[in-house]
Amino acid sequence: MSEAYEELVERAAALDAADELAKLRELFVLDDGVVYLDGNSLGALPRAVPARVADVITREWGELRIRSWFESGWWTAPERIGERVAPLVGAAPGQVVVGDSTSVNVLKAVVGAVRLAHTEGAVAARVVAPPSGVAPSGVAPSGTAPPPRAVGAPVRDEVLVDAETFPTDGYIAASAARLTGCRLRAVPAADLAAEVGPRTAVVLVNHVDYLTGRLRDLPGLTEAVHAAGAYVVWDLCHSAGALPVALDAHDVDFAVGCTYKFLNGGPGSPAYLYVAERHQAAFDSPLPGWNSHTDPFGMRPEYEAADGSARGRVGTPDILSMLALETALDVWEGVSMQAVRAKSLMLMDFFLACVEAYVPDGRVTSLTPAAHDERGSQVSLRCEGPGEAGEVMRELIARGVVGDFRPPDVLRFGFTPLYVSFADVHRAARVLGTVLA
Ligand SMILES: *Cc1c(COP(=O)(O)O)cnc(C)c1O
Repeated sequence: MSEAYEELVERAAALDAADELAKLRELFVLDDGVVYLDGNSLGALPRAVPARVADVITREWGELRIRSWFESGWWTAPERIGERVAPLVGAAPGQVVVGDSTSVNVLKAVVGAVRLAHTEGAVAARVVAPPSGVAPSGVAPSGTAPPPRAVGAPVRDEVLVDAETFPTDGYIAASAARLTGCRLRAVPAADLAAEVGPRTAVVLVNHVDYLTGRLRDLPGLTEAVHAAGAYVVWDLCHSAGALPVALDAHDVDFAVGCTYKFLNGGPGSPAYLYVAERHQAAFDSPLPGWNSHTDPFGMRPEYEAADGSARGRVGTPDILSMLALETALDVWEGVSMQAVRAKSLMLMDFFLACVEAYVPDGRVTSLTPAAHDERGSQVSLRCEGPGEAGEVMRELIARGVVGDFRPPDVLRFGFTPLYVSFADVHRAARVLGTVLA
């Protein structure tokens, strides 16, 4: 065995011995023969979940049946579990609701934000004052009185999305733009702060790029969007549970995210929607279902929106998935997100060092930024051999190292600090080196 091998094995052992989060691995169902680096796609199963789901099915559904909507707390689960997600994304109580998919929540947030921008009061409060004597574009000058923001002639008629976006966000943003009379403009994430302007109603942006693992500047971009008088919607799918997120501290307007990646909620577990408290009273959801009615069981023909985070609900919640998620969130009790972030960065640095040692030169290129403050919690390696990435990943999986492949040539490795060890990381890089040799 080479000197580099000996040294890296020793380093892995030392890092594992010093890892304060190492004991959390026990909370998950994992087999020692497999290195699981795909928690950025589907988080591992927390041990406590099967018994909870069994109880929900056999007792709450099987025995209590309809009584469970109230006696077992099913009806209020979306808000209750929203409060469990809130501290993980830096939100004070009352602003996060769980339900539906990320895709659906993107629609609610983007349309909701455009409607805020088109609401007279909101625009008046936020619009950047036009140069004196010049009416905002699209509004005819009208003597002395300030021009009304006429319905049908919105000043802000543009939705921006990061050009690198996860596809569903882009598709939904395009539809949201059509629904609200806006046009969609895709702009490279790095240029969004410069491109947001007086015509922009809302900017939808991914906090971490799903393909490269690049972390975007949430505080800086949020500030730039606000300076332009627009609203921002952050997609936290690849950041919540992987690194500290501070929605309230940075004055974010809206955020969405899924719970089956770093939050380990299970396949298709419900997503969440954050609407900042200051926007809740004016938030006009494009999907006003009976669950977001102020009096759902009044069965009234007129819609009257509920106050608070419940306004983001739509229809009957998916209770089995939702309660699996509730128990899955128990693993975060007492866990510091700073510690999670520190370990995540160390795992990635160690992985890259091992890749450097084991993978023959020129076979892969890291797409993940070198700077820590530009990284999410995944490493993306581009395979330089044409068309080989899919085959390489199949081979890795056959040898017990599970990552994933994204076309055309990217190998993704997700680092979930709650259950990935440094020994895992070492083994993954070693196997990758063998496969690529
Ligand atoms: C995973 C992911 C989604 C998934 O959306 P679903 O509606 O849950 O399928 C959306 N956006 C981003 C950025 C993601 O990473």
